[in-house]
Amino acid sequence: MEKTCDILVIGGGGSGLTAGCRAAALGKKVIVLEKDRKTLGGGMNMASTMRTFGSRWQKERELPDTTMLYLRNRMDETYWRIDRKLAAGVIRGTGKFFDFFEDLAPEKAADFDVGRYVFDDPADGPLGPQSGGHGPDAKKGSGRIFVETFSEKIPEMGGEILLDAVTEKLLTENGRIVGAVATVAGETVEIRCKAVILSCGAWIRNPEIVKKYYPLLSDAQPYMGESPHMNRNYTGDGLYLAEAAGALMDEENRTIRMMGPMTMCRSRVMSDMAATRYSIYINALGNRYICEGSQMRLGVFDSGSVQLEQPEGKVFVVFDDNTLARAIADGDDQPQPEVPMPNMAGHFPATLEEAHKEMEPALEKQDGVCFRADTVEELADKIGVDPQALRETVDAYNKNCAEGMDWDCFKPSDWLAPLNKAPYYAVKAGLGTDGAFGGIQVDEHMRVKAAAGGVIGGLYATGDICSGRFINMTGIKKQILNDMSFALSSGFIAGTAAAEYAE
Ligand SMILES: Cc1cc2nc3c(=O)[nH]c(=O)nc-3n(C[C@H](O)[C@H](O)[C@H](O)COP(=O)(O)OP(=O)(O)OC[C@H]3O[C@@H](n4cnc5c(N)ncnc54)[C@H](O)[C@@H]3O)c2cc1C
Repeated sequence: MEKTCDILVIGGGGSGLTAGCRAAALGKKVIVLEKDRKTLGGGMNMASTMRTFGSRWQKERELPDTTMLYLRNRMDETYWRIDRKLAAGVIRGTGKFFDFFEDLAPEKAADFDVGRYVFDDPADGPLGPQSGGHGPDAKKGSGRIFVETFSEKIPEMGGEILLDAVTEKLLTENGRIVGAVATVAGETVEIRCKAVILSCGAWIRNPEIVKKYYPLLSDAQPYMGESPHMNRNYTGDGLYLAEAAGALMDEENRTIRMMGPMTMCRSRVMSDMAATRYSIYINALGNRYICEGSQMRLGVFDSGSVQLEQPEGKVFVVFDDNTLARAIADGDDQPQPEVPMPNMAGHFPATLEEAHKEMEPALEKQDGVCFRADTVEELADKIGVDPQALRETVDAYNKNCAEGMDWDCFKPSDWLAPLNKAPYYAVKAGLGTDGAFGGIQVDEHMRVKAAAGGVIGGLYATGDICSGRFINMTGIKKQILNDMSFALSSGFIAGTAAAEYAE
């Protein structure tokens, strides 16, 4: 079968639907190819608050425009290594995107409330719209509201969304992209177009790429298990399509972000012990590896990269009845994290007996997450750590407590309390990721750069597969804009630029 259109979008998630809808609104015939049997993308239906620098929405609510300050701060933080035109384009694009959305669906835009992205520092920038308004969509994440709207609008504007569509290759003529060959519901379809936008999402589920760039993550994946961030469609197809078309691949700035230690287990008390002053974190060798307070400054996102460095990414939070009693005695005076954290120490029960009672069902479950033992050695045995090694670690830690100086991991003196009163407990800490990003190099119009120099005519990329919004700090993601905002803004920019190119 053969088809023609102006703009072909590969990937029906956050950035692809935005790009497609923008191009359709500019009068272009659009086809979106989505590999899955539904649109919405891997995580867009769960993503939340949107940044909208300089938007009409923001001005109408008299919210300050801090675009310039935000840009300067992000560039400073990343040592000016990020392409500043790209940074400016994408950050300003967030507001333009929201203006577009408001024009398209004013009743939905009016339902958004003023809010802030959960992980943003208040000093980071303006408040933006977030779902949680009063309309029928109030309970949906903002990402879902956007993608549902675009999925409806594209066909209304004469576009097509083809599901169960896997793109095999891009077609090139005279160095320009002129179409693609795809398998749509089992049938081969050749689509001729004026421009292609690659919006295929992350590559966390591509073992080959993960192993090449992040062997440590490869080793840790069995420990991590399934999560919504490990969407099965995140196989990095866009990277292969771009490379085969002559794109300049970004080998250096591919990046991941790891989340951990995550201790949301069946017992609230046991979960919360991870975020008190007194627990210790140990790895699979039975060794401490970080000042336990540091995750409160790094945040659960960034301290995950330290966890990944441990053998198999495996970490346990260990405490005993002495440290539990100390945490209880602190009452509401628990250390407060410097960055927003999903699992902060909450409100402990009033007595040790009540805490024991709360912990009992989780411990009885024997689910491989919560452990209890009468001795340090027995606890080590239960969690699969060398008993002698854990004994030595606890002895060394207790000695540091006695001396008031933690020369191993530099914990503050008033956080030191010995582990010397049975029972001893351990919580297996989860390790997660919010995806794998980058790989294709784009300019500020989202045009794909060519390995031979310049850009590839008619080829654009958006969303998670683009580089530039991060800098590779030895593989650790340094985010200049939250993922959803980048996806929507880059989609808007690519849709605009591709429509212009197609004239
Ligand atoms: C669980 C989860 C929660 C998240 N929460 C947040 C949050 O709170 N805040 C935030 O800012 N960000 C969040 N994100 C990130 C955000 O959702 C992504 O950054 C954003 O969706 C990226 O947009 P995208 O278009 O690049 O990819 P996606 O939206 O994932 O879309 C990619 C699409 O391409 C399709 N595809 C893949 N290969 C092909 C192919 N060969 N042919 C055709 N189609 C293909 C996929 O099936 C998918 O539908 C979250 C992500 C996840 C997974």
